[in-house]
Amino acid sequence: MFDLQSLLRENIRTIKPYSSARDEYTGAEGIFLDANENPTGSVCEGEFNRYPDPLQRELKVRLGEVKGVVPEKIFLGNGSDEGIDLLFRAFCRPGVDNVITMPPTYGMYQVCADINDVEVRTVSLTPDFQIDVEGVLAAVDQNTKAIFVCSPNNPTGNSLADADIERLLKEFNGIVVVDEAYIDFSNEVSFVRRLEEFPNLLVLQTFSKAWGMAALRLGMAFGSEELIAVFNRIKYPYNVNILTQEKGLEALQNVLKKEMMVQDILFEREMLTDALSKLESCEKIYPSDANFILAKFKVDATALYNQLVEHKIIVRNRNSVTLCEGCLRITIGTAEENKALLEAIKELQAVVG
Ligand SMILES: *Cc1c(COP(=O)(O)O)cnc(C)c1O
Repeated sequence: MFDLQSLLRENIRTIKPYSSARDEYTGAEGIFLDANENPTGSVCEGEFNRYPDPLQRELKVRLGEVKGVVPEKIFLGNGSDEGIDLLFRAFCRPGVDNVITMPPTYGMYQVCADINDVEVRTVSLTPDFQIDVEGVLAAVDQNTKAIFVCSPNNPTGNSLADADIERLLKEFNGIVVVDEAYIDFSNEVSFVRRLEEFPNLLVLQTFSKAWGMAALRLGMAFGSEELIAVFNRIKYPYNVNILTQEKGLEALQNVLKKEMMVQDILFEREMLTDALSKLESCEKIYPSDANFILAKFKVDATALYNQLVEHKIIVRNRNSVTLCEGCLRITIGTAEENKALLEAIKELQAVVG
């Protein structure tokens, strides 16, 4: 049986959270002399003198309608990276507990683990970039608190098999994090749909990719009410600023625009995949469910990467990452940007080849 409370660090289970002025009285009307704000206004343009809603209630109600989730199962943070960090701080005893990642994958899981002095056990994806379920389950011990599943995976671009993720959810008694940063670009059904089924599921999504709002820093985490309540207790009180909350609401009034942008990017992804695969220097393009592709080259990928930098075209060099030898990760740009990339690679393949 999954028991969230027994999984928590002792200090977190018993913590008395900081109670902000805006937590204690939540009415909208009144004379607010409780938070030491400036009553007259802001030095900059706009009205920013009042602290924002610490629980982003309005935004969560609207997001909940879009995602089909009640607000109590939603956490919003300063990017989805905040959710990753809170998970470590809530569950992992420094120097004692461990988590499992499946490289090649998103680098932030390891960085957050290192910051929190938590061991990372790595169980590589299979050569076709799928989960080695037996290997992952064999790596679990009594101090394993979380397994990080990134689907669609960064940097490989593919989605991981639902059946494998389900097995981890069923057979592992800790938290299974399903990072869906790129889900808007894929045809897979989100695990947000399955929160009722799995009390140990935490789904991460973000406004940084498909929504085109990376600079605003708005990340989402979806989980059981019990798990989300833990995050709310330990987060910084005002972790999402008012500009971000307002822009988030604005974005959610225009879901269609996001979908149209996604369609454009998917079209460009097909064009770029096609054109790159025809190049002499390109060995293969891995199938992608994301807004980037992983391209394997016959020529020295690091040399190609450096030459592209000379042309002021910056991609991600994954040449030294296990299972990604010879690979560059390329974000899908505009039609013009992708054309410039193709021209540059054509020109360079003679040089670095
Ligand atoms: C980009 C990305 C994120 C998103 O990070 P934010 O902090 O929300 O900008 C999360 N997970 C993966 C795998 C990513 O590639």
